[in-house]
Amino acid sequence: MRRFFLVLLIVLVVSSCSTAAPKTLDIYFIDVEGGAATLIVTPLGESMLIDSGFPEQRDAERIRHVAKDVAGLAQIDHYITTHWHRDHVGGITLLAKSFPVKNFYDHGIPAVLSTDINQQLIDAYRAVTQGKTITLNAGDQIKFLTDRSLPRINFRVVASNAVVVGEAAGSPQITPCGADFKPIDEDKTDNANSLGMLLTFGAFRFFDGGDLTWNVENKLVCPKDLIGAVDLFQVDHHGASNSNNPELVRSLKPRVAIIDNGPRKGADPKTYATLKSVREVEAIYQLHKNVVTTWLENTPAAYIANDDENCQGEFIKVSVSPNGRSYRVEIPGKKIATTYQVR
Ligand SMILES: [Zn+2]
Repeated sequence: MRRFFLVLLIVLVVSSCSTAAPKTLDIYFIDVEGGAATLIVTPLGESMLIDSGFPEQRDAERIRHVAKDVAGLAQIDHYITTHWHRDHVGGITLLAKSFPVKNFYDHGIPAVLSTDINQQLIDAYRAVTQGKTITLNAGDQIKFLTDRSLPRINFRVVASNAVVVGEAAGSPQITPCGADFKPIDEDKTDNANSLGMLLTFGAFRFFDGGDLTWNVENKLVCPKDLIGAVDLFQVDHHGASNSNNPELVRSLKPRVAIIDNGPRKGADPKTYATLKSVREVEAIYQLHKNVVTTWLENTPAAYIANDDENCQGEFIKVSVSPNGRSYRVEIPGKKIATTYQVR
C-alpha cells in the first residue's frame, strides 16, 4: 500500500512539473523537395500535419523523423490534404503505415477526376483512410484542445474548392475586383481548389494557402479582406509565379515568409520580387536555394535550410512563445535562429 502511494505521489509531482513549464506552439516546415509538409504542434501536444510530400519513402521518413524524433509525437491527430496533387497527398500512404494518423481532412474527392489528379493516389488515399474523411469547406473550423493558461487557438478554412468564405458553392473562379485587377486564365487544375487556412494563437497569425493560384487569391482579399495581416506566411504554391498575387501578399503583410520550394521547383524570381517589394516583409526563408537562378534571386544563405541540391533535408522550425507575442524562426541544421515580434 505504501509503495502504491509513493508511486501515486511521484506521478502527481511529475505531472504537475510537466504542466508548470509553459510550452511553445511549434510549426515545422519539413523539406520534401518542392512538395509541402507542414507540422503544427500545440503547447498541449496536439498535432496537425498539412500535406505529406511526394509518394516516396524519403518524404514519409522525413515527416516521421520530425514528428517522432524531433517533436516527440506518438501520433498525428489531424492530417489535412490541401489538394490532390502528388507533392501534397503523396506521402500519407507510406507515413500512415509507420506512424499512427487519427483524423483525415480534405476538400472532397471529385466525382470525376481531372487529368491532373492521379487515380492511383486517390485509391491509395481511400484505402488508408478507409473512407473516413472529413470534407472542409470555406468557413469550417477545426477545434484544438486548450486550457485556461493558454492563448486562444483558432484554425479556420478560408478557401476550398475555389470558393472563399461568404461565397456560394460554384461561384466563378474569376471575379473582377480591385483597381489593378488582372486575372490569369482560369486555373482548371486542382491547385485552384486547394484549401486555404488561417491559424491563430493569441495575437500570432499564420496563413497556409496550399497551392492556391492567382484568381482565388484575389477573391481572398477583394472585395473583402478575409484574412487580414499575418505574422507568418507559407508562400503559396512553393513560390510559383502563377500564385502569390501581389494583391494578396500586400494584404497579408507578413513579417516572415517561408517558401517550401525544391532546388529546381518554386521560389520563382517573380514571387521573390513580389515579397521583396512588400515593405512589411522583414525576412524571407527558403527550404532550398533555387539552383536554377542566381544569388540575386535567392534569399541570403543564412535564411536557406538547404544550400545544395544533394541535401540532408533540413527543416525550418517556428516556435511561438507561450503568450503568443513573439516567435522564433530557426534553421536547426545551420544553428541559426532569429526572434520576431508579433504585430
Ligand atoms: Zn504543390
